[in-house]
Amino acid sequence: MSDEKNQGCSGNCSSCSQSCSERDPKSLIEPTGEYNNIKHVIGVVSGKGGVGKSMVTSMLAVLLNRMGYKVGILDADITGPSIPKTFGINSRAMQNEIGVLPAETKTGIKLMSINLMLADKESPVLWRGPVIAGAVKQFWHDVVWGDLDYLLIDCPPGTGDVPLTVFQSIPLDGAVIVTSPQDLVSMIVKKAYNMANMMDIPVLGIVENMSYVVCPDCGKSFNIFGSGSETVAEELGVSLLGKMPIDVSLAQMVDNGEFERFEGDYLKAAVEEIINKTR
Ligand code: ADP
Repeated sequence: MSDEKNQGCSGNCSSCSQSCSERDPKSLIEPTGEYNNIKHVIGVVSGKGGVGKSMVTSMLAVLLNRMGYKVGILDADITGPSIPKTFGINSRAMQNEIGVLPAETKTGIKLMSINLMLADKESPVLWRGPVIAGAVKQFWHDVVWGDLDYLLIDCPPGTGDVPLTVFQSIPLDGAVIVTSPQDLVSMIVKKAYNMANMMDIPVLGIVENMSYVVCPDCGKSFNIFGSGSETVAEELGVSLLGKMPIDVSLAQMVDNGEFERFEGDYLKAAVEEIINKTR
């Protein structure tokens, strides 16, 4: 650490916002609870909100679950939690003597979200960054996930304080970056990539969402927002895991809380690649 930066250093990295070159990015990793045996932790990240990160997280979870893996979803998108609604979960989280119990979807995916804690699900979460990050850490540590093959983390969007803390405190085996065609143009995807890289988290690949639409009459595909994920993936040296169209039926299943019924294999290859890369 330079002398200039060293001034005022308390030695407590967890309450310091300085990016110190001497700090090991993984030095703040926290253990999960003693009743948890989680084989792989995958972060699903995006450079900004609204690109379909939660939908991709949910789809990966359903596909892994259909393949017979034990799957959980930690909804770390505290200010925009959408995972419970996607799976039609309205219940409140329960607690027993060993910790907080995750909700379970119809097909057995375990999930935890701030929406399972709130009495009024429509109230905004007006918390500052450290409180939000604290809630995510509690979901990691205090929830009784039990045995899981894959815990997918629907990460907070962006590259600010909260996603940074998640990256620093949860031992991610890899990150999947979700992007929209516009993000590719504005380089937002590269920011997400660089953040993972700086934290020593392997980027498993990119999913381009809202990539195209298929005309219901003629069946032709249109790249209405343009496309360029192949080029960006190549530049960054990462895999292009898949492309998802804007699909009205998917949005309807989310709205109806019936996402587990989706058909379509947009992310089948992505799941296989994630399994291979985290073996
Ligand atoms: P994020 O988690 O990045 O904020 P969401 O997954 O919540 O984004 O998606 C934002 C909205 O767009 C949701 O209403 C979702 O159902 C919809 N959506 C996302 N991806 C698609 C898609 N490929 N086709 C149709 N609707 C989509």
